[in-house]
Amino acid sequence: MQEMDYYEILQVSKTATATEIKKAYRKLAIKYHPDKNPGDKEAEEKFKIINEAYGVLSDEEKRAIYDRYGKEGLDRNGAGFNAQSMDDVMDIFNSMFGDIFGGGRGRRREAREYQKYPMDIEIELNLDFNEAVFGCKKDIELDIKKPCESCKGSGAEDGKMKTCDYCGGEGRIVMRQGFMTFAQDCPKCHGSGEIIETKCKECNAKGYSVEKETVTVDIPAGIDTGNRLRVPAKGNRDKYDRRGDLYIYFYVEEDEHFVREGNDLYIEVPVFFTQCILGETIKIPSMEGEIDLELKAGTRDREQFVFRGKGVPDVHSGKRGNLIAQIKMKLPQKLNEEQKKLLEKLQESFGVESHPHKNSFESAFEKIKGWLKGD
Ligand SMILES: [Zn+2]
Ligand SMILES: [Zn+2]
Repeated sequence: MQEMDYYEILQVSKTATATEIKKAYRKLAIKYHPDKNPGDKEAEEKFKIINEAYGVLSDEEKRAIYDRYGKEGLDRNGAGFNAQSMDDVMDIFNSMFGDIFGGGRGRRREAREYQKYPMDIEIELNLDFNEAVFGCKKDIELDIKKPCESCKGSGAEDGKMKTCDYCGGEGRIVMRQGFMTFAQDCPKCHGSGEIIETKCKECNAKGYSVEKETVTVDIPAGIDTGNRLRVPAKGNRDKYDRRGDLYIYFYVEEDEHFVREGNDLYIEVPVFFTQCILGETIKIPSMEGEIDLELKAGTRDREQFVFRGKGVPDVHSGKRGNLIAQIKMKLPQKLNEEQKKLLEKLQESFGVESHPHKNSFESAFEKIKGWLKGD
């Protein structure tokens, strides 16, 4: 079988959020669910592949390895997806969405340890145009969560929990809708089967405390709006003091002169009409300071001049895009008497060439005269 990219399998982009991935997985998993396609080997195979992709992309650690090293990286790290039996695959599906087809394949989950906050931190960061183009260092102040010491992260005073009264400790509740049976995580205990007896006073049952940490992040040159950067092990702490990751989503401010289009930069160059006609070498700004732009005689309005490799470096390869200078021809706003005379003189000196419309319309005038006479 041809090896397909996990993102392609789930039909999501490489920058998809956890929610987008979950949504895409749910849609496909339901479509190819074996209970919906009984005896269909192809659907079963697809269902397995979808679950494999989800198993990796829904796990931040595995996803990060996969993003960097691909499937081989996962195998090397022993983080590969080994569940090949249908039962294992069904377990993943059921743990996500409950046994929605009521096939009774799912086993009851063991009470899991419930952590009250995600391990990873996601933030948005605004960069100035030049910071994104050249790269920069940023000090970012983060609120790092760690389990409350007083209640060991449970949110309950002295860590004391009692059986959830809503689900009777099952962690899951079953609902019927027509002929369909849905089992899903208990909304009260979120699947753990236990709830707090008395609230922890230290953290007010939140289960965590927060400490400030300033993280210095190296932002590579070429970052653009929408890019995501993963900073490993700068996320929240769990009770073993392991840390999640920090994810930074970028927004890059616009510049007054340069317009960025991917790795290319555009700049508009105002030029007086006489400069266009006569030609002239002028200075324009670039990422490397001033550079020469050679206007040849007869440069047109909106003409583009491309400077290869003078654009923004690609954030991954470092290969630079182009700088494209576009001419904006300026005409005089007002003429004084002397300028007017000079221009008239100039026009005269061109003779017939100064009235190109005459030649080109002569035959049209004749033709229309004929039409109006009704010939
Ligand atoms: Zn507490
Ligand atoms: Zn419950």
